[in-house]
Amino acid sequence: MMMNQQTLDLRMKAFRSRCAERGLAMTHQRWVIYRIMAGTAQHPTPEETFAQVRKEIPSISLATIYKNIKTFLDAGLLREVSTPDQTMRLDANLESHHHLICASCGKILDIPEDSVVPVHLKKPLPKGFRVESYNVSFLGFCGQCGPGVQAST
Ligand SMILES: [Zn+2]
Repeated sequence: MMMNQQTLDLRMKAFRSRCAERGLAMTHQRWVIYRIMAGTAQHPTPEETFAQVRKEIPSISLATIYKNIKTFLDAGLLREVSTPDQTMRLDANLESHHHLICASCGKILDIPEDSVVPVHLKKPLPKGFRVESYNVSFLGFCGQCGPGVQAST
């Protein structure tokens, strides 16, 4: 599934300004790698990203992709989605949101933050711990993989 052009433009604009804020050089390589990830809602793996980037930069290595992904994660330009099989899945959607994960095909879908009742902690946190954010993943089966979890309406 491709993003619409407007969403992609907004993400790339945010990428440009965040790189400037964090003093990250905007190289052609970084631009291409990020655009590939920002242009999909599939939550791609580094390997899938590599395959796409290679079409534009044939000389690029998988190690370079990993290195840039780490830079993007450290700079908060990218999020990593935890998956049951520990595969690294990347998310360039920086708006607060949660995920539906298909346990069969591995598909990851975004769901808006307001589709989940806010989570409250019932017990005190370890001293000094301050929560900045949280995210929720619902594990189930997508419509193509069923018999799955059907959201009740
Ligand atoms: Zn997502």
